[in-house]
Amino acid sequence: MSRAIDTTQSTSIQPDTGSDLDLQVRYEAEPPAGPDAVRCLTYPYAMDLRGIPVICPADRARQDWLLINQHNNVWIICRCGHQWHEPELARADFDALVLIPTLAQYPSVQAALTALGFDGTFAGFSL
Ligand SMILES: [Zn+2]
Repeated sequence: MSRAIDTTQSTSIQPDTGSDLDLQVRYEAEPPAGPDAVRCLTYPYAMDLRGIPVICPADRARQDWLLINQHNNVWIICRCGHQWHEPELARADFDALVLIPTLAQYPSVQAALTALGFDGTFAGFSL
């Protein structure tokens, strides 16, 4: 099953409006938390999933990822801008990778992708 990430969705806490599609959520000063929060984590290293190295299908990159978590889903975003839902990663895996308790917050996933350089601007560069 393919899941597309909505890059317009706020990374901050969403009020309990009963709708996940409410994209006009006001920016909250509180850190992202709760099951609806969209959390971002830069992961500059190579990653293995069950012994299989993660390789970007677009440019064959093997490291320097941005991980995005919402609910129990984790997406991997490559520096080239290619992104995919990774069924081998779940919320618990994401939590295990979070070494620093303070996460940066951005008004939207797209803003985070741009600010962190994962919007394809650096496609072809190896940092
Ligand atoms: Zn890539």
